[in-house]
Amino acid sequence: MNFVESDERRALRSAVGDLASRYGHEYTRKKARAGQHQDELWQEAGKLGLIGVNLPERYGGGGGGIYDLALVLEELSAGGCGLLMLVVSPAICGTIIARFGTDEQKNQWLPVIADGSSIMAFAITEPDAGSNSHRITTTARRDRGDWLLSGSKVFISGVDQAEAVMVVSRTEDARTGRLKPALFVVPTGEPGFEFRPIEMDLVIPDRQFMLHLDDVRLPAEALVGDEDAALAQLFAGLNPERIMAAATGVGLGRYALGRAVEYVNQREVWKTPIGAHQGLAHPLAQVKIELELAKLMMQKAATLYDSGDDMAAGESANMAKYAAAEASVHAVDQAVQSHGGNGLASDYGLGTLLAVSRVGRIAPVSREMILNFVAQFSLGLPKSY
Ligand SMILES: Cc1cc2nc3c(=O)[nH]c(=O)nc-3n(C[C@H](O)[C@H](O)[C@H](O)COP(=O)(O)OP(=O)(O)OC[C@H]3O[C@@H](n4cnc5c(N)ncnc54)[C@H](O)[C@@H]3O)c2cc1C
Repeated sequence: MNFVESDERRALRSAVGDLASRYGHEYTRKKARAGQHQDELWQEAGKLGLIGVNLPERYGGGGGGIYDLALVLEELSAGGCGLLMLVVSPAICGTIIARFGTDEQKNQWLPVIADGSSIMAFAITEPDAGSNSHRITTTARRDRGDWLLSGSKVFISGVDQAEAVMVVSRTEDARTGRLKPALFVVPTGEPGFEFRPIEMDLVIPDRQFMLHLDDVRLPAEALVGDEDAALAQLFAGLNPERIMAAATGVGLGRYALGRAVEYVNQREVWKTPIGAHQGLAHPLAQVKIELELAKLMMQKAATLYDSGDDMAAGESANMAKYAAAEASVHAVDQAVQSHGGNGLASDYGLGTLLAVSRVGRIAPVSREMILNFVAQFSLGLPKSY
């Protein structure tokens, strides 16, 4: 077991840190308030090879693993300018295509996902199914050599920026007639594909959308991977998603903690800086410990995933995502508290992070569903649902 990051990874961390320091939270906040995306940052990250760092070299990627991509997202988030679409485009869609796509799909999508010139969104959540993905009803029917895809999805991030969406749907089993999961790449411009933004109380540059697919006609090649192994293929993408969500939480928590420490070190209302009061120092120390623990679990999950142990990675990825969400919620809350009234003053840019940090408790998988997983899978307790 090696707790020391390689020189290469430390250099990557430092390069991403430099990039983040040139953009920062103010840039991200301005973009969000103006209803714009972080295009300049995204493009620069693409040119530097950061977006495709986890994808195979022969398709224009960096040849690293999910550890490396999580490191990139952690450092950007710690600099106040996390990129949500890193969670979706290279981590979920890129990984699934790299592992299960045909040569044509790899050639078509991986180079453009890796350099950031194309974004692929990912849609699993449905209005009626919610956390119960077994209930999804988006269905693909065979029509001569094509597929016809119909259904609805909700809260899908970044569809307006995406060239295509990887849609989790179902096909009918020819033998049993039962529905089984299948993944399709759906170009956002196809006839029958409609999307509209959902108004969210979140100040972030990436919007969430409602999707309606009405008999969207897709060629046979739109199916990613094998129909029969779709669940395993899906989790090959969902574990990286959880690790990346953990990276966002750890990075955001580090950002908030950094801001709090800076403030309590210089603000004086009695004889000493307010950071001398244990009422502020101890909760900040506690947040530091929680963030370090969450980061360790994230690194463990990423290491297991990159080693090819999907099963062990699943348990760790869930735990990492849980720990990071809790740590970042505590970090942001304590940062706001440490700033007193300034914590909610727009100039300080912390108040909006209260809602942003809370997303980690809900998406991509809720705190309760992780606790269910740990109760059943890790502890062997019975299921209530
Ligand atoms: C900012 C944001 C971005 C998102 N981006 C995407 C995206 O790009 N693609 C995508 O597919 N989805 C996306 N989502 C959707 C997200 O994954 C879901 O919101 C999440 O999985 C929860 O599902 P739900 O909202 O339907 O909640 P519900 O399933 O309705 O759950 C509501 C509450 O009930 C609890 N609950 C449900 N079942 C149980 C149970 N058995 N035991 C205990 N508690 C339970 C949940 O934990 C939750 O607290 C995004 C969501 C947000 C907020």
